[in-house]
Amino acid sequence: MADQEQSFRVTCPDCDVDHEARTFDDSAAFVAKHREHTDHMMEWTRADFGLGLQPDPAWALTCETCAETWTFEGEGEALAFKQEHAEYTDHEIDDDPTREGVSADEDADVTAVIADLSEQFDDGVPEPLVVAHLGGDAAAARREIQKLKRQGTVFEPSPFRLAAV
Ligand SMILES: [Zn+2]
Ligand SMILES: [Zn+2]
Repeated sequence: MADQEQSFRVTCPDCDVDHEARTFDDSAAFVAKHREHTDHMMEWTRADFGLGLQPDPAWALTCETCAETWTFEGEGEALAFKQEHAEYTDHEIDDDPTREGVSADEDADVTAVIADLSEQFDDGVPEPLVVAHLGGDAAAARREIQKLKRQGTVFEPSPFRLAAV
């Protein structure tokens, strides 16, 4: 069974460690131990909860001149469209494509995402899932989650599972 893919995979951007696990909590325990021993924060490169909850990233591009917004499935497509727009119109799009999703800047959004998903996860919502749902910059989303944990609005019933107060 060694060649069968496990549902969860974590890799460390700071060293060569990577680890596969059958359950989210096993992978979370590994991430917590790795952080304890190395201070490295690993990333979930595979997190298949089997619930179809991973949102497809959507990219939005807005032209101020046309007052129009287009959405794309990938950043590459959006960038290509931006280039084309300059070629086929008499103006350029100034803004870069943005990843659509809830903004991680507002506290309410993080807690709302957690509250929303907690209906499906009795023991706390896996953090990578919350980050994926927030969209935008994953590092910013994690900082926001840390801030809410310090404030006590969000707590961790077990490693890398989140619940809103
Ligand atoms: Zn590491
Ligand atoms: Zn335009």
